Amino acid sequence: MTETVDMIVKPDSVRRSARMPDYDRARRTFSWAAARAEMSGLPNGRGLNIAHEAVDRHAAVRGDRTALRVLGADGTTTDVTYAELRRRTNRFANALGALGVARGERVFTLLPRVLDLYVAALGTLKAGGVLCPLFSAFGPEPVAERLRLGEGRVLVTTPRLHARRVRPVRAALPALRHVLLAGDPADGPDDGEEGLTSLAALLDAVDDDFAIPPTDPEDPALLHFTSGTTGTPKGAVHVHDAVVAHHATARAALDLGPDDVFWCTADPGWVTGTSYGIIAPLTHGATLLVDEREFDAERWYDVLAGQRVTVWYTAPTALRLLVRHGEAAVARHDLSALRHVASVGEPLDAEVVRWSAEVLGVPVHDNWWQTETGAIMISNFAAEDIRPGSMGRPLPGIEAAVLERGPDGRAWRADGHVRPVRPGVDGELALRAGWPSMFRGYLHQEERYAASFAEGWYLTGDVVRRDADGWYWFAGRADDVIKTAGHLVGPFEVESVLMAHPAVAEAAVIGKPDPVAGELVKAFVTLRPGWTPDASLHDELLSYGRQRLGSVAPRELAVDPHLPHTRSGKILRRLLRARELGLPEGDLSTVETS
Ligand code: AMP
Repeated sequence: MTETVDMIVKPDSVRRSARMPDYDRARRTFSWAAARAEMSGLPNGRGLNIAHEAVDRHAAVRGDRTALRVLGADGTTTDVTYAELRRRTNRFANALGALGVARGERVFTLLPRVLDLYVAALGTLKAGGVLCPLFSAFGPEPVAERLRLGEGRVLVTTPRLHARRVRPVRAALPALRHVLLAGDPADGPDDGEEGLTSLAALLDAVDDDFAIPPTDPEDPALLHFTSGTTGTPKGAVHVHDAVVAHHATARAALDLGPDDVFWCTADPGWVTGTSYGIIAPLTHGATLLVDEREFDAERWYDVLAGQRVTVWYTAPTALRLLVRHGEAAVARHDLSALRHVASVGEPLDAEVVRWSAEVLGVPVHDNWWQTETGAIMISNFAAEDIRPGSMGRPLPGIEAAVLERGPDGRAWRADGHVRPVRPGVDGELALRAGWPSMFRGYLHQEERYAASFAEGWYLTGDVVRRDADGWYWFAGRADDVIKTAGHLVGPFEVESVLMAHPAVAEAAVIGKPDPVAGELVKAFVTLRPGWTPDASLHDELLSYGRQRLGSVAPRELAVDPHLPHTRSGKILRRLLRARELGLPEGDLSTVETS
């Protein structure tokens, strides 16, 4: 394999000090039962609850340690100890009880990274509610769609986000009983508006004490929406047992432990923002850095240096922006505390790995996983050499395979069986079902869930190849979903919104390569009779998309009178994409030409 020639070799001192010093040995000796035994469990054998593992177990023995260090948008720094986090999350759990929220009901958050997010998330888990975090950059349509599909009972948001994203759609959400507004109740334009409750006032009125009710490890805990090529977004359901995988993988893949200052820059609406942006650093008793502000290269270096961050988990898009920002900024900062840098969510360019090794002094370690897997599945480990451009190798406890693909691009199951391909050959990445953070269902979509498995393998929808030494290399998606700046966008959701515009007869959306965001969303539309494809309509359609969809809206749009269809009438996004990029058009036998 040509890829194996290029390696970043780790010094022995780094290998020895890693929390998992020997990958092969760890794979041989690992068991999920042993990983589960590291959890403390609820007192008196009352089960397993994520929030107990993250907060209460530490509050009991070293409550004065800093759990969260919040770097406020106003420049302030607030430290929250484990004992204080216990009190605050107890109050949130009591508040849900006071509102009459029943176990298993869904509590949504539409919040930026602010302290209330962590309190609401962990308080919900204590109370036995199911947490569903949304991206705060979503427009009103994706917010409403997910609240509707997830039958959200409670939404925690800010006055500003409520006014822009929720108020326009609230009437269409009868199941949504309570909207709790975080922040100072006097701040918001919604102060006093009917149907809204100030979170601060609600928390003031309840008790500090709360006993987590018995929790079965298989009780639902988290709901994360993700996108497919067709149909509505899929709500992946995770259970409390997932914490076993959050904890074990954070140590193995992120080299995380109790003495770390950990910074995860992921958006709280993304699965990474929960598994590793909230839960895992706390289960380890580490200090989790919470930065309320958005990306700014110079300030990010200030945070890394000033807070003495030891483990940093970020994304390729952000790293590419740092590369562009130049090396001089790095030289002005003392990054000597930084021990491990990891990234996830989109392909990580080999050049960025090398840049990081040279300029930051530590290479970026790529990790692969997805909403459905709940935790990192494939990783470059702290003690192991890196093959730049490779996603790494499967975690201890995870069995992966590369399966032969059929004519539809997915794992070939025509005869009922799946077949692995040879090393070096592209195929669909599959994982042997059964790890603790594996999703337990797509909410209300049992068939779709069942279709994700074959012969005991979970089929990921990603095309990869494995080299002769067992390293995995990402090749692309087996479907039409788009990855833009780390976010998965379902083309159908975007197309449906565009088609609600009176000028649009048909819409198709593709991912177009972009040097920073990986891909950007590009839309093609055909117009209804009587509409002229001029510049003002073009701009109006883009702004129509932006207002309704927010961050998943198309950034480019073209009017094209001839969108390619299959004979059965489906738009062929694959062909549009090939044409846009000047790539070979592939097999056109199913294309409607008339
Ligand atoms: P999400 O469920 O939104 O986290 O998106 C998961 C998808 O992101 C995966 O199925 C991959 O297509 C992509 N992805 C995640 N990690 C990587 C990675 N390290 N390299 C390439 N693609 C990745």
